[in-house]
Amino acid sequence: RDLPGDPETGTQRRQVHRALYSRVHPTPVAAPRLVAYSREMADALGLDAAYLASPEFAQVFGGNALLDGMEPYAANYGGHQFGVWAGQLGDGRAITLGEVLGAAGERWELQLKGAGPTPYARMADGRAVLRSSIREFLCSEAMHHLGVPTTRALSLVTTGEQVVRDMFYDGNPVPEPGAVVCRVAPSFIRFGSFQLPSSRGDVALLNELIDFTIRRDFPELGGDPGSPEVRAEWFGQVCERTARTVAAWMRVGFVHGVMNTDNMSILGLTIDYGPYGWIDDFDLDWTPNTTDAQGRRYRFGNQPQIAYWNVAQLANALVPAFGDTEALESGLERFVTTYTAADRDNVARKLGLIACRDDDLELMHALYALLHSAEVDMTLFFRGLADLDLAAPSLAPFAEAFYDERKREAAVGPFNEWLSRYVARAREDGTPHAERCARLHAANPRYVLRNYLAQQAIDRAEAGDYAGIHELLDLLRRPYDEQPGRERFAQRRPDWARNRAGCSMLSCSS
Ligand code: AMP
Ligand code: MG
Ligand code: MG
Repeated sequence: RDLPGDPETGTQRRQVHRALYSRVHPTPVAAPRLVAYSREMADALGLDAAYLASPEFAQVFGGNALLDGMEPYAANYGGHQFGVWAGQLGDGRAITLGEVLGAAGERWELQLKGAGPTPYARMADGRAVLRSSIREFLCSEAMHHLGVPTTRALSLVTTGEQVVRDMFYDGNPVPEPGAVVCRVAPSFIRFGSFQLPSSRGDVALLNELIDFTIRRDFPELGGDPGSPEVRAEWFGQVCERTARTVAAWMRVGFVHGVMNTDNMSILGLTIDYGPYGWIDDFDLDWTPNTTDAQGRRYRFGNQPQIAYWNVAQLANALVPAFGDTEALESGLERFVTTYTAADRDNVARKLGLIACRDDDLELMHALYALLHSAEVDMTLFFRGLADLDLAAPSLAPFAEAFYDERKREAAVGPFNEWLSRYVARAREDGTPHAERCARLHAANPRYVLRNYLAQQAIDRAEAGDYAGIHELLDLLRRPYDEQPGRERFAQRRPDWARNRAGCSMLSCSS
């Protein structure tokens, strides 16, 4: 049905107390047009290609119409931003349309991002620009295919309207094309959803949300969601999921960029693709977020510590509902044990070993130091390990991975030393070559959404050519497979992209 001209509750910006959401309708746009969709996500939702191509789809998923049964709302939550409590934040430009039950009974919440202002939009416009929408759309699906827990993306719709942003690379506001992404997840509840009622002393609402979350999103826990045992187990599982997801980021070289507690999913999903980035040359200190350039709080190597800090903030928020802190403390311990185990698993898998022994941790750290000092591409290096001949090791499989010829020459000696240690270790396992290759290939992707690749697709899209988006979407369906003819997408970042604004540095909310 068409949207009423006047949304029921209006979009007046406000503080919302004693409620976790506000009803609000998307604001219609001039000319919604579908430019890309995820086939896998459409299948999961039972949407066929004909429907996706229909004018109705673009109308609904651009925010111009609702289907029967849709009751759109924006969620209310708070959060710590860059370590500081920020009070109420909420969905300022995300509007949930409703939930769909999939074929297997699984629950999918459909949410439009960039669909116009909500009561939580504060001073901002509720819109999203095409470039950031492309980045969210492509990365959500890429992460899914990499096996990293994540929110998903169904569709990318252009609005036919312009959005004004301060383009950070020239400082002047430049109008840009607007877009709406439909993102999809079993739940978009965040750590900050619990923090907000807790911060306001609204323990009744906090308890209601805990019960609701356990019942709806953790049905396998069974039992009474109010019981201390069930709640303790729930918090422990949240900690474990968070630890596993961050470990997966570290494995593939993903830097989230803005791990504020409002961007932490209670399901441990990667959520809010803003100024994220992918590691090219290995650097634990790198962050893609210009807003974080000073403190580098959200740098690559700091993500596990920040995730722990974030679950600790969630624990603090839960204290009034849990009564005492014992269950929360043991949940936090489960984060540490889970992350430690997942990190060891990463070491074994990324090096193609059967299991991680204590001295393998040191082997990996020595490698990290070398990759950093010699400026070596993370993805190409680990993938290259599969091409290493254990009988005659050489640097040949890594020839394309070095960014700086002089640094490469200086590092030949140390790399050869490291390779002989590695080869000795790998031989102890005695894994047959093909099996070792398969293990390495399964843990070390060949294709990731390198920042410059996303930027190239964006540049083309802004000129009206969406083929680059389709190409990357298709490529990233099989990130661990060799894809003949598509080698150029596996190349290291070209020199021209090194310092180009937009390729490596991004700000928070565009
Ligand atoms: P983020 O840094 O992306 O997590 O966003 C922080 C807060 O700002 C969230 O409450 C967002 O909903 C809100 N926000 C970001 N961009 C916009 C926008 N263009 N319009 C309204 N709210 C926004
Ligand atoms: Mg956010
Ligand atoms: Mg955001």
